[in-house]
Amino acid sequence: FFLALEGPDGGGKTTQAARLVAWLREAGLDVVACHDPGSTVVGERLRQIVLDRASVHLSIRAEVFIYMASRAQLVDEVIRPSLAAGRVVVTDRFLLSSLVYQGYAGGLPLGLVADLGRAATDGLLPDLTLILDVPLDAARRRVGPGRDRIEDRPDSYRRLVREGFLDVAGRGGGVEPAAYAAPVAVLDAQQDAEAVFDRIKSEVGRVLGI
Ligand code: C5P
Ligand code: MG
Repeated sequence: FFLALEGPDGGGKTTQAARLVAWLREAGLDVVACHDPGSTVVGERLRQIVLDRASVHLSIRAEVFIYMASRAQLVDEVIRPSLAAGRVVVTDRFLLSSLVYQGYAGGLPLGLVADLGRAATDGLLPDLTLILDVPLDAARRRVGPGRDRIEDRPDSYRRLVREGFLDVAGRGGGVEPAAYAAPVAVLDAQQDAEAVFDRIKSEVGRVLGI
């Protein structure tokens, strides 16, 4: 079973992913946790390149390939082998992030990002995607001053990111939902962490029968 947590920065994905993994392990499941970009040696190096404030001149077209390269490595080295071994994989971000950040908000055609994504993931998609949705001001309060090159971007970009997740999740944003993530559930991540976690448990528990 392959689960992805998605959504704008400041929605609490990383915290919730950690809690979810702990909960699934307590239930006796063999769980592999990863984050995208990253979670492989090559992926962590690519993550540094793309998040480094010194990469100010990285073009959006080059950027999308870096995310995709990290993702291809993650799929080949971690996700596919883990799923083949019957393990549950929980990832903090996946292909939907590229559709939203580099496509919807970054201006690359969504169809192009979807095509690159299909190549990068070799067609592997999450069995369930949970979007932790959070309005801009709440996200800003959680993130504080930007921690990296992406979080330094203006509110106009961050607003498009939030909109993108909701639009792509709700209406496909012009892309076949099957191209990236279906099925998708949007959760209100503005509530306190406990309430958000309860929602996550009920969504995941229903699908996994726990
Ligand atoms: O949230 P996380 O720390 O995993 O993401 C790292 C940064 O990379 C975030 O600021 C996120 O917005 C950005 N990102 C992106 N495009 C992606 C994936 C992540 O801009 N496809
Ligand atoms: Mg983040």
